[in-house]
Amino acid sequence: MSGPILGIDFGTTNTAAAFFDRQGKLKLVPVSEKNFILPSVAWYHSADKAIVGLAARRQIIDDPRHTLFGTKRFLGRRYQSEFVQRHRERFAFNLMEGPDGYCAVKVYGRVVPLNEVAYFILRQVLTLATHTAGEPFTECVLTMPAHASIRQREAVRHAAERTGLKVRAIINEPTAAALYYANLRSPEQTVMVFDLGGGTFDATLMSVRNRVVKVMATGGDAFLGGANFDECIVEHLVEDFRQQHGVDLRGNKVVMQRLVFAAESLKIQLSRAEVADMRVPCIAQGPDGGFLDFQFRVTRKRLEEMTFRLIERAVSACDDVLERAGLKAAQVDELVLVGGQTRMPALRERLSHFRRFASEKDVHPELGVAVGAAILGRNLSRPGGTGLMDVVPMPLSVMLPGGATHEVIPANTPVPCRKAVSLAGLPPGTTPVPVLVFESLDTTSVEREILGTLQVGPEWRTGRGGPPRLELHMGQDFVLKAFLVAPDGRLFPAPIADARPQMRAPRTAAS
Ligand code: AMP
Repeated sequence: MSGPILGIDFGTTNTAAAFFDRQGKLKLVPVSEKNFILPSVAWYHSADKAIVGLAARRQIIDDPRHTLFGTKRFLGRRYQSEFVQRHRERFAFNLMEGPDGYCAVKVYGRVVPLNEVAYFILRQVLTLATHTAGEPFTECVLTMPAHASIRQREAVRHAAERTGLKVRAIINEPTAAALYYANLRSPEQTVMVFDLGGGTFDATLMSVRNRVVKVMATGGDAFLGGANFDECIVEHLVEDFRQQHGVDLRGNKVVMQRLVFAAESLKIQLSRAEVADMRVPCIAQGPDGGFLDFQFRVTRKRLEEMTFRLIERAVSACDDVLERAGLKAAQVDELVLVGGQTRMPALRERLSHFRRFASEKDVHPELGVAVGAAILGRNLSRPGGTGLMDVVPMPLSVMLPGGATHEVIPANTPVPCRKAVSLAGLPPGTTPVPVLVFESLDTTSVEREILGTLQVGPEWRTGRGGPPRLELHMGQDFVLKAFLVAPDGRLFPAPIADARPQMRAPRTAAS
């Protein structure tokens, strides 16, 4: 019998892993005694050597320039993209454009591609898991936010492959959480998974029948996560500090990073307590030359006022998903909360229009996704189906020479799927013409990611049987393939090659 398949939830903030051992028993991978969460942080102590996890996380304060955290949000993204330009300023490490146009980081003068950081983290998880299982793993299931683009999925897949693991499937995080949920009891229910982690927010509506999870609609906000809450706190308190001391800390990236780190801990304390203190000593020099501490007492109520808009954004994205599925919150049997940020009491209160919450005992907010991945791994390694029907999160379209665009696979189409589009109107001629394939990055933004170009040869444009047709196939593993369809229905692979820089265009031009 082949060995177990490792389920890995490689998150923006934290990483966790789980698997079913040869006796069919679920095993969570411990990172240290009683702790199952590995911070997704790498601290480079030289140009090509890094440690990862808790010890690395502690370096955020002392050595922020070489401590790479939250880099997964930039992995597989072009440096020039709107997303990166909007977020890069917040980090003290030196984010830059790599030779391939994607994000990289400069440490000790060396350009580090971000999938090296992902590789270090995944390698550490694999080492820990191997130790726990007492045998090596050869295969894994990875999770990604539902809104991850194809390029982001590829980047994580490559990092995992570098550790020597074969990637059997990539599953969306909320779907993994629902799979976990579906396997706990065998309910016949409609479930909303509300997944607010460190970097992204996904809301996914699913039906669970006989342990099979079918995604009905998915949506979210790729720009919203727990980190926004931390920044929001810092913004307010830095302004208070400026008013009190006449010193503006905003220009100093290293100081700001220390504050964000302290704000996160304040925020977490305020999920349990009504009042908490934030104190970062010797943060700046005062007018008299003495050192000033950054010291504030914050109540839970004040935190809620500061972050009110962020909560509303998440709730309204969740309502959009319901609306798309034509359902009301009252028709959802259970709300499953995943992602550390959902521990915030105000967020839970704001979601009280849902009838019932899955309790924390049912689905652990930080470990449920890894367990879901392990369940898919177990299902893949035995006959009887995967127990999963996922959907395409973002529309896939083509652009013909001249600029006409056609949506080929709409968002929320169940995978695997194949959809065709007519290529009528291609110019005649004797040389191949390019057709661009792109993914809309977000239902709320105008950004598109060009996945590449495929060539349509002259023989396809002069044939008798009418205009050529293009078929896009999206697998359950979210691997995309393109084919040209002959008049007799035969399919000819049309490789999608040569990714070009990201383009931005008004959304209306896509329709
Ligand atoms: P995850 O990606 O699921 O590990 O979630 C990480 C995010 O959850 C970070 O932004 C954390 O600050 C946040 N988080 C973790 N615990 C809590 C808590 N008790 N209250 C509020 N936010 C939390």
